Amino acid sequence: MSEVLVLAEHTGGEVKKVTVELLTAARRLGSPSVVWTGPGADAAAGRLAEFGADTVYVADDADYDEYVVAPKAELLAQLVTEKSPAAVLVAGTTEGKEIAGRLAVKTNSGVLTDAVNITAGGGGAPVAEHANFGGAITVHSKVTRGTPVIAVRPNAIAAEPAPGGAVLVPVTVTVSNAAKAATITDHVLAERTERPDLTEAQIVVSGGRGTGSAEGFKIIEELADCLGAAVGASRAVVDAGWYPHQFQVGQTGKTVSPQLYVAAGISGAIQHRAGMQTSKTIIAINKDPEAPIFEIADYGIVGDLFTVVPQLADEIRARKSR
Ligand SMILES: Cc1cc2nc3c(=O)[nH]c(=O)nc-3n(C[C@H](O)[C@H](O)[C@H](O)COP(=O)(O)OP(=O)(O)OC[C@H]3O[C@@H](n4cnc5c(N)ncnc54)[C@H](O)[C@@H]3O)c2cc1C
Repeated sequence: MSEVLVLAEHTGGEVKKVTVELLTAARRLGSPSVVWTGPGADAAAGRLAEFGADTVYVADDADYDEYVVAPKAELLAQLVTEKSPAAVLVAGTTEGKEIAGRLAVKTNSGVLTDAVNITAGGGGAPVAEHANFGGAITVHSKVTRGTPVIAVRPNAIAAEPAPGGAVLVPVTVTVSNAAKAATITDHVLAERTERPDLTEAQIVVSGGRGTGSAEGFKIIEELADCLGAAVGASRAVVDAGWYPHQFQVGQTGKTVSPQLYVAAGISGAIQHRAGMQTSKTIIAINKDPEAPIFEIADYGIVGDLFTVVPQLADEIRARKSR
């Protein structure tokens, strides 16, 4: 069975959920081999084995932490040359997509990004699924040259366990000077809240310009906390300084694909939809019945969010206490 390389995303050795989602997809195509950069592989092996990793290539050189994304692309390019895998899967995060692009250039291969599913097509070649135009159009695509490099959206594929051996295999790559051109000078940990990570959350509650102010936006946090959800925001909100930029959802912000997405006071501009349209269930709260967000909503509430959201939060609290 052909190998399928999966680039692990992890923070401080903790395997991110998207990595086990990628492993689930990789098993449909062949034998999954994780590519692990930096320390922590020993501790993570158990979790990777749980989701079917047969091999874990470990590159624990400091270069991967010191020099942005280029060394990771070089590592993957070397493994592609040595192992001739059936495909390389990376997370469709900002970093993952940049690595995917660089890897495709280095290996003269085709790259597919924003995949929401992967299946094995004719001859086992991977077929990626993409959801476009608010999910109205589903596109299937495949790579016709080189080794398929596919960036998969976090939260798009349900992770399913299956046992694997997760045999650790050390690998060494001499990183070129060109890849060391951009150095990471500092790591600043974002202030952590009790809320889940935006791109990995099962539920996201997002607020838009309809919240009116930073003070008004607090109502979004309140609803999110009732639901154990992450908070998102439209660009109008972050540009106005009502909420930090890292919570922006959309074309120039984060891409999310939760089980439930609540959009309150958000019009549903195409650039916002680009970041949330693959959410499984969408609830829109907007006082304008013509707001475009209702075109993609599964449930719509026409009303003032300052009336609707507190009622919703009260009802959720009441149900929880029953
Ligand atoms: C290149 C480019 C990239 C972009 N990238 C992004 C991106 O990544 N993410 C993003 O979000 N946008 C992005 N935008 C901006 C995007 O086009 C919209 O301007 C933005 O999404 C609008 O945000 P909004 O829906 O909060 O505000 P508005 O469009 O102003 O909508 C506010 C909505 O709130 C409703 N409302 C008002 N008051 C209430 C109330 N009391 N109760 C209920 N409803 C109420 C209104 O009816 C309206 O529908 C981008 C634009 C460009 C050009």
